Amino acid sequence: MTETDYTFAVNLMQFLVVPTFVLDNDGKVLIWNRACERLTGVPGSEVIGTKEHWRAFYTQPRACLADLIVENRLNDMEALYLEYEDSNGQAYGIHAENWCVMPRLAHSDKLYLAIDAGPIYDGAGALIAVVETLRDMTAQKLAQTTLEGLAYHDALTGIYNRRAFDEKIKIEWERSLREQSGLALLMIDVDYFKKYNDHYGHQAGDECLRALATAMAQCIARPNDMLARYGGEEFAIILPSCDEAGVRTIAQRLQEHIAALQLPHQSSEVSALVTVSIGAVQGVARQLQSVQAFVAAADKALYRAKNQGRNRISF
Ligand code: GH3
Ligand code: MG
Ligand code: MG
Repeated sequence: MTETDYTFAVNLMQFLVVPTFVLDNDGKVLIWNRACERLTGVPGSEVIGTKEHWRAFYTQPRACLADLIVENRLNDMEALYLEYEDSNGQAYGIHAENWCVMPRLAHSDKLYLAIDAGPIYDGAGALIAVVETLRDMTAQKLAQTTLEGLAYHDALTGIYNRRAFDEKIKIEWERSLREQSGLALLMIDVDYFKKYNDHYGHQAGDECLRALATAMAQCIARPNDMLARYGGEEFAIILPSCDEAGVRTIAQRLQEHIAALQLPHQSSEVSALVTVSIGAVQGVARQLQSVQAFVAAADKALYRAKNQGRNRISF
């Protein structure tokens, strides 16, 4: 390569709008382009010729994707990163996505970076450099997280929705089967809620459901417990690793918390306040039973609580 060819190539890199840095085959920074300076807040003059490029992304020493290629730690990578392969199955680069601390940026927000790294070989097949390009995907990642959150939450009450419930109950049933741990399920249905709507109006009905959801959320404490809106005015609580005494305690606490709300319900036939009926099941999953049967048993218990007069718990 002539001197002008070389200058041209470096300039090309310098002004490329994609944040890019290049390591030599010793792992030292060869090029740190303008876009990379803008993204990281670290000037090229500070890192070129050093192995300190990690400081732009992390607060503690940590290998960047390009370092892994320089150190030929491809085997470490297979499990962790997506590899690019050509049609012959030859790997020619790796991809990763990661939240980075970005210690040198003025704001304290982390950035979600999509990172691609690929080796450059000379004519004889020896590694001469590794190019790493970065893309700031923070906005997309946050939007995706928000969307996922919406997909699993009920718009009215903010608690988990039926979809989240259906997935969670399957997971916990499998866990119970594997670990032979107790699993409990509570089905909670508001008593005479149709009459409530008729008497106070649909908007007040919505308010009531919100208040109930908030009160019930305060009755469960473990991070793995789940309160979900099962449908209409019906709620469900999944309690993993829960014994019979535990489920009784929670069911009683639910009724107490709801009573404490003192929500008037003039047209209820069972109380002057809003009440709920609760169906509860608890057990260890068995191979020959199904999760559907488990949910159906909770439903049946709820039906019995209704039949026995409402405002009660049936096990
Ligand atoms: P029961 O004591 O047997 O449970 O009687 P119920 O009236 O509560 O039961 P039913 O299933 O007959 O009526 C449920 C009512 O819940 C009817 C429906 O309009 C109301 N409902 C369901 N979802 C909502 C909602 O999101 N907002 C409001 N305001 N009402 C709802
Ligand atoms: Mg009801
Ligand atoms: Mg109902």
